[in-house]
Amino acid sequence: MTHTVRANAAVAWPPGKRRCLGGALIALLLLLLAGAASIPFLFESSSILYKFGTDKLMLRAGKVLGMIAATLVLFQLMLSARIKFLDRIFALDRLLNAHRTIGTTLACCLILHPVLIFLPDDMLFMPFEWRYWPEFVGLFLLLSILGMAVSGNFRAVMGIRFDLWWMMHRMAAAAVAIALFVHILFVSETFEQGFPRTVVFVAIALYAVLYLWVKLKRLVIRCRPYTISLVKPAGREAFQLRITPNSRDIRPYAPGQFALIRIHSPHISSEEHPFTIAASPARSSDLEFVIRTSGDWTRHIGRVQPGDLVSIDGPYGLFTHLRCPENREIIMIAGGIGITPMLSMLRYMSDIRDQRKITLVWSNRTREHIVLPEEFKAFENSLPGLDITHILTEDPVSGETKRKLAQDQLERLLSGCSRQAMIFLCGPPQMMTEIKKALVQLGFSRWRIFTERFGF
Ligand SMILES: Cc1cc2nc3c(=O)[nH]c(=O)nc-3n(C[C@H](O)[C@H](O)[C@H](O)COP(=O)(O)OP(=O)(O)OC[C@H]3O[C@@H](n4cnc5c(N)ncnc54)[C@H](O)[C@@H]3O)c2cc1C
Repeated sequence: MTHTVRANAAVAWPPGKRRCLGGALIALLLLLLAGAASIPFLFESSSILYKFGTDKLMLRAGKVLGMIAATLVLFQLMLSARIKFLDRIFALDRLLNAHRTIGTTLACCLILHPVLIFLPDDMLFMPFEWRYWPEFVGLFLLLSILGMAVSGNFRAVMGIRFDLWWMMHRMAAAAVAIALFVHILFVSETFEQGFPRTVVFVAIALYAVLYLWVKLKRLVIRCRPYTISLVKPAGREAFQLRITPNSRDIRPYAPGQFALIRIHSPHISSEEHPFTIAASPARSSDLEFVIRTSGDWTRHIGRVQPGDLVSIDGPYGLFTHLRCPENREIIMIAGGIGITPMLSMLRYMSDIRDQRKITLVWSNRTREHIVLPEEFKAFENSLPGLDITHILTEDPVSGETKRKLAQDQLERLLSGCSRQAMIFLCGPPQMMTEIKKALVQLGFSRWRIFTERFGF
């Protein structure tokens, strides 16, 4: 298989197929939710049978919300398990966004669930008695999910370090799964026998298989490390890491995709972090990452040594020009280190002598922050259709931030570009929001603007 075919194979699925599969999966999800919500109607427990009017309505609504929340908890593992099939349809970053939104939704369902169940019995507080132990498991579940949802949405505001939050989140998720199944099986007579009980056991089996698959995948990735072959500065506060496979070929990837890397070195902790594969899949069998020193972990990246081992989980994502029609004009807008996916795409296009029109607008704080400037200069020779504009946002004397890339400037820079062009945008979150808005106002279709956020 040639490199080009391998790169295409990493994305491959045409938009039509992705939409069909995506639609089918969402329909299946809705069907499962509807099935779960129908259980309190089809298999009424005695607590519902002997209630009437508003009380019955409230009790049933509470149980329906509980069933919906339980089903959503099971989907949460699927969304975060980095399943390649789902990544190819939706892209991992969108799956993780959905994971966050669903987390908030199910926390809301779970708050209402006990309120609606206890109110018909005029029970505002549960008596502290042994026979209510399944309800107390439910309380633990509610508090854990609330904690996960709040810390997931407000981690930065709460000042919790990402790695610490990530570890707690994973531990809490395992505890929630166990508590959920115990709560469902013992809290209501609906699940004491028959079809509902079988459904719960099938769900437990599926969940266990998926959980074991995730653990096994991690183990396999760990057992097949790559080796760092080069570490060198690549501009101010940035390093270039070249990584060589040891025992096998690199998995096919498309330019612009990313991987999660874990470095095993005495010089840096072995946390897992996402980075764009900045290499060209058409060039060599090595992988390359360009990493800016921005926080606790990346601060030490310059200390890793050739010979250190790296586990790589990937590739993931759909931020690649290979999903666009061939020869379609491309606009790339990058802020700082957000250039790395564009670098990979440009390297690839340069390797296959792509002739199309490409406009790159790249904003950096200072000239020294431009990574690999010589290589970008060389692209202007190897890619005849490429036009690069550099924007520097920091005043070289005072160090203050000058005016950032704004709509009038964009309008001027993109005046010669087709409104049909495909746009790739990657940079700080605020910049991406502002620029996307400006591009839509300038007449570009929001459906042709692809974005990559450098944070989950
Ligand atoms: C798809 C993607 C591609 C990326 N590509 C590049 C690249 O090519 N070059 C580059 O320099 N940076 C890239 N990043 C950003 C890089 O992952 C973060 O800068 C790095 O993880 C920060 O770690 P830190 O501990 O040094 O910083 P911190 O200050 O601790 O974290 C800064 C932010 O980075 C995110 N983050 C931190 N740790 C993790 C983690 N383990 N997993 C997920 N997110 C985390 C969080 O949103 C956090 O708020 C990419 C990020 C993503 C999501």
